[in-house]
Amino acid sequence: MGKVLLGKYLLLPHLDGNAAVRPGTEKENRVEEDWGVVIDKGKIEEVGENSRLERKYSSYEVLDFRNKIIAPGFINAHMHSYGVLSHGITLPPGIDNFDNFLNDFWWPLVENRIDHRMIEITSRAAAWELLNSGVTTFCDVLEAPNAVPGALEVEAKALEESGIKAVLSFEACERISPENGIAGLEENKAFFLACRNHPRISGKMCIHTTFTCSRNFITKAGQMAREIGSGIQLHLSESVYEPRICMDNHGLSPVELYEELGFLGDDVLASQGVQLTDKELDILKSHKVNLVHVPLSNCEVGGVLPRFRPC
Ligand SMILES: [Zn+2]
Repeated sequence: MGKVLLGKYLLLPHLDGNAAVRPGTEKENRVEEDWGVVIDKGKIEEVGENSRLERKYSSYEVLDFRNKIIAPGFINAHMHSYGVLSHGITLPPGIDNFDNFLNDFWWPLVENRIDHRMIEITSRAAAWELLNSGVTTFCDVLEAPNAVPGALEVEAKALEESGIKAVLSFEACERISPENGIAGLEENKAFFLACRNHPRISGKMCIHTTFTCSRNFITKAGQMAREIGSGIQLHLSESVYEPRICMDNHGLSPVELYEELGFLGDDVLASQGVQLTDKELDILKSHKVNLVHVPLSNCEVGGVLPRFRPC
C-alpha cells in the first residue's frame, strides 16, 4: 500500500538531469509549509499540500510528521564506520599533533586491532547513527590492515540489513608491508567487481596518503582503478605532516607528486585538503579532482579548517 507522509515543512530541491522528482520548473530550492509526500512502490508519486494529499490518497496509509521537516536524504561523502569505536574516548597523554596521533594512538590502538567481528558491529552502529541523522547515502573508508581479505564483504553484509546506500572502500597502503598494501588494492578490486549489480552498495578503489604509499604503489592503484572503472579516493594533506614529509621524500608537494605520477583526474575523490597551497588548488582544479572537506574530523586531530577560494 502507498504511504502519505504529512510534514510541517517540505524541502524541495531544484533537481537537474535524471532526477526522479522535478518539483515544478523553479530554478531554486524552496520550502513549503504544511506540505507532504506520497510514496508508492518505493518511489515518490506526488508532493503537495497535506490536506489535498490526504483527500486524494484516502486509501493510503498516513504517516503524521506534522512536527517535522521532510527533506531529501543527506549524503556523507567521507566516513569511517569503524570510527564509532572512538566515540567518547579520550586521547592518551602526550598526543598533541597529527603525527603522534597516528603513530602512537590511532594506528596501534584502533586500526590494527579491527577484525571482521568489529567491522560487522561498527558498520551496523554507523548505519543506525547515519540514518537517524538523515543521511541515506555515504562513502566509507575502512582502515583495518589486519582484516583483509573479506573485510568489505563483511561490511556490506552488515549494511544491507539497514537499507542505507553506501560506497565502500578499503584504505590500501604500505605502512604494515608492501604485501599488505597489495592485499588492500586487491580487496577493493574484488569487492568493486563483485557488487557491480548491487542496487544500493558499490565499491571504490582507495589508497591512504603519500606518506604511507610509495610512488610505485600509487601508480599501481591508479592504474587498477582505471582498468576497472571504479574511481579512487584518498586522504590529502590533512595536516602539515603530509606536505612536510612529501617534500622531504620527493621534493614535491603531495598534489605535485600525484600529478607527476599521472594519478589525477575527475574520478579522484580527495578528502580533507586542509593544507593545500594555491598552486595545488590550481592543479586539482585543472584535473577536475573532487575534494570533500571534513571539518569535524579536522577539529578532532587538532588541525584547522581548510582554506576556501572562489572558483
Ligand atoms: Zn578520513
